[in-house]
Amino acid sequence: MSHPVGVRTTCPYCGVGCGVVVSSERLLAGHPVEADGITLSGDQQHPANFGRLCSKGSALAETLDIEGRLLYPIVDGQRASWDEALDRVAHGFKKIVAQYGPDAVAFYVSGQLLTEDYYVANKLMKGFIGSANIDTNSRLCMATAVAAHKRAFGADAVPVCYEDIEVADLVVIVGSNYAWAHPVLFQRLAAAKQARPEIQVVVIDPRRTATCDIADLHLAIAPGADAYLFNGLLHYLRREDAIDFAYVEAHVEGFAASFEAARTVSSVPKVAQVCGVSETQVSEFFRMFARTKRTVTIFSQGINQSSSGVDKANAIINVHLATGRIGKPGMGPFSVTGQPNAMGGREVGGLANQLAAHMDFSDAANIDLVARFWNAPHIAKAPGLKAVGMFQAIASEKIKAVWIMGTNPVVSMPDADTVRAALKSCELVVVSDCVQHTDTTACADILLPAAGWGEKDGTVTNSERLISRQRAFLPAAGEAKPDWWIVTQVAQRMGFAEAFPYTQPAQIFREHARLSGFENGIDFENGVGFENKTKRAFDVSALAEMDETQYDALQPLQWPVNSQTPHGIQRLFTDGKFYTPNGKARMVAVTPRLPAVATDADFPLVLNTGRIRDQWHTMTRTGKVPRLNAHLFEPFVQVRARDATSYNLQEGGLAKLSSRHGTMLARVQVSEDQRTGSAFVPIHWSDAFAKLARADALVAAITDPISGQPEFKHTPVKIEPYQPAWQGFALSRERLDFPDTSYCASSQGAAYWRHEIAGGSIPEDWLAWARSAFNRCADWGKSDLLKYLWLEYRDAAMGRYRAACLHDGRLEAVFFIAPDQRLPSREWLSSLFKKSVLAAADLAGLLAARAPSGTAADGGRIVCACFSVGEKTILNGIQAQGLNSAEAIGLKLKAGTNCGSCLPEIRRLIARQA
Ligand code: SF4
Repeated sequence: MSHPVGVRTTCPYCGVGCGVVVSSERLLAGHPVEADGITLSGDQQHPANFGRLCSKGSALAETLDIEGRLLYPIVDGQRASWDEALDRVAHGFKKIVAQYGPDAVAFYVSGQLLTEDYYVANKLMKGFIGSANIDTNSRLCMATAVAAHKRAFGADAVPVCYEDIEVADLVVIVGSNYAWAHPVLFQRLAAAKQARPEIQVVVIDPRRTATCDIADLHLAIAPGADAYLFNGLLHYLRREDAIDFAYVEAHVEGFAASFEAARTVSSVPKVAQVCGVSETQVSEFFRMFARTKRTVTIFSQGINQSSSGVDKANAIINVHLATGRIGKPGMGPFSVTGQPNAMGGREVGGLANQLAAHMDFSDAANIDLVARFWNAPHIAKAPGLKAVGMFQAIASEKIKAVWIMGTNPVVSMPDADTVRAALKSCELVVVSDCVQHTDTTACADILLPAAGWGEKDGTVTNSERLISRQRAFLPAAGEAKPDWWIVTQVAQRMGFAEAFPYTQPAQIFREHARLSGFENGIDFENGVGFENKTKRAFDVSALAEMDETQYDALQPLQWPVNSQTPHGIQRLFTDGKFYTPNGKARMVAVTPRLPAVATDADFPLVLNTGRIRDQWHTMTRTGKVPRLNAHLFEPFVQVRARDATSYNLQEGGLAKLSSRHGTMLARVQVSEDQRTGSAFVPIHWSDAFAKLARADALVAAITDPISGQPEFKHTPVKIEPYQPAWQGFALSRERLDFPDTSYCASSQGAAYWRHEIAGGSIPEDWLAWARSAFNRCADWGKSDLLKYLWLEYRDAAMGRYRAACLHDGRLEAVFFIAPDQRLPSREWLSSLFKKSVLAAADLAGLLAARAPSGTAADGGRIVCACFSVGEKTILNGIQAQGLNSAEAIGLKLKAGTNCGSCLPEIRRLIARQA
């Protein structure tokens, strides 16, 4: 296969779905393409990003090497051939189905899969194995929005498009650190606001986040109070005569009941009291909303990850329906999705309560339709187990075989320790992944190497219903295969070859497109469907006849794509007609509920979890990129100063967080961004990168009763200082292992590894301890360990120890130990790993961590990941050079001039100095 020049593809991280252009000099020269030498930029023509990329997207080329990849099948810990491994999977699943029935097996899949992968996995489980036990990690991020859309619109249909954010006059962002979780959309909004400063932005979030950088108003409401706020807004709109009664009369039902249900907390003072913010702020927000016709309300995990998330989402949708602000430019409720293909998964039916092509199990006619289309005699007849229930069924041995595809539930599921124990005791665990060592692959009986980004070919759908191609530009690493191929092979070996004849992803897409249009016409006689509207919202039937060339060349387009709208459409519901039996949207009567478990004397803090700027999910890819590890390199817990004082926590010290379900160690950050009584931890760290740092081990397996989405945003915890016997750090050329430490967070830097460590007991001999950590690493040339030169400094009275290991003048490792966290800067020491031989001046300052005079000043913690510009450098620029705007800093220091993800932080540094 010849590789085309300048391949257009899509970023594999978040639901923004940015277009990426990949090119390579080698590729241009026609050589076989390797991962190195690849350059990558934002696709100027892609309608999601128009050339922009965030820090994660712009570092994609640095994730493509094969280090850490799963390169061949492994069965029971031994390398196996594909035939052996696939036979084992097929035989294992068949045997368990024959013995215990189809509901004894399950698939747990991922929003990282392409639509074609998802389609085949869903078809195999629901159509041919005969169970609906297939659920996706998208359950953890947007199942709530799906349920709310279906209640309100009769279909899981996102009404708006990205352009609406730019043409709105008011953008309300609820429960989303948009600047870090959907960075390019945030940049589009920031640019629109710069061009048109009259756009107003309101952020509703218990935390002050980077998103507040462009906010005119931040409502730091009490965790979980969102439905009270939006119910109060509904009442305010009525009082202020801002309801569009003509629209409601023509296109909406349920207004009276919704209004009545909102009565309990409806006055501004009551709303302010329940939400824990001032009356002035509530009034200001309500006034802004009431007087601004062009309003978009963006909502994300802060709404979705809640035990009453569906009601919260419907409370938001209610105010848009009541004001007729939907289906028009710059108006609408907008659920932004977390993953690159969460939407594609929804389209094929990848959730356990969906069937396929936006049909579910509530209508026997749908089940019959899909069974006939697939020619599937044993189709599942009822919803399967949602993610939390699925892992509970594995724990109770009702499910005896599970196949996990492209996801890491041992880190990301709530009650994560129980999930790990469940997998360890499960009879058959199959994991297909592109990464060899994850917390989940460690539980697998059979590992199947999946093709990674750049190697696989198919389609994804982003948050605005835009279908884009992900195209291959690299040969598969090792023996890796696309997920659709792996599932197809297993299906064939299970006896379903006729229904799974696929040899190309285009074949699968065509079938998926045909199913979306199958018996999806307008049925006037039975009152189903309307003029220019099919019965089911999801319809891409106009793409069902594409040949391979057309599929390869497919340009981004927003569904529905059918005979009425062959080029797709930007906005839904422009005609005021919805996918309900009478065509009217439904306002839902919402009675707000507080989070399922309240804080108490034993667990007095509310723990909130979320993403950070430069990491993606469990860091299996972004954790490979030194510049993405430089901004935040350790698991941390952020608390307000008042709480830090109450719980004896020190900035930079370690803290132990405990809930009724698990514990976590993290570095303390004291910040007024938190509400008193709240703490925030990032979701990304796993056992692969740190000890005791899986945030979701603390989270209870409590879910929304409708969507099944877990309550990740409200876990009662206690926090206490963690005081080890010693703390320290080690920098080393290769990754080291510290099994005898109580805390260890490892991150990869440029030419070195950084290990932040702490221990519960002091070793008898520090040198022996350091040597043993060093010698444990396999690649050191153990045959000649005597050639390594060790330098030491001890101050037993002060509890300080320092050592350096050199080989032929080249620095191999340094160890710095102290009784507490007061340790020298790692900046200059880490720069020494770039040298092949240390200079005499370097050696002289090595154990004192003192750089020779003339060395560039320590730039401090990295703020701009693209150009490695540190906090101290920026602060110095502000103070000494008078750089008093982000633009001035960009001009002088380059910081913030590439992806722009660090601009909110730069502006905060300027504000702080001012
Ligand atoms: Fe990728 Fe960033 Fe775009 Fe998300 S915003 S798709 S992570 S480049």
